Amino acid sequence: MTKFEFTLIESGRKAKCAPNPDFPHGMSIDAGFKEMCIVDVPYPSDGCGVLRVDCPKCGIKVGYTVAGRIDDVRRVTLPCKQPHNQQIREPRRLPYGSE
Ligand SMILES: [Zn+2]
Repeated sequence: MTKFEFTLIESGRKAKCAPNPDFPHGMSIDAGFKEMCIVDVPYPSDGCGVLRVDCPKCGIKVGYTVAGRIDDVRRVTLPCKQPHNQQIREPRRLPYGSE
């Protein structure tokens, strides 16, 4: 069983503006890779900064901006380092649950 690691790198700031109303239950980020892992991350974040997601299988580390609000990322894709792994489209931000 693959276990992802999550590390919050706090910026020391607080979110100043209101959450984006397009993402009332969080955001899914689809990075558009042909071969990838889909990971549910801690939501909402405990603070404002960057959430780093580490894949224990291939070692890739990917950072996502978080603000401790309802529009934080909730599900992300990791472009795992595998042979023939290619990006096939632009990254997309989707409301959580709509993907
Ligand atoms: Zn991986």
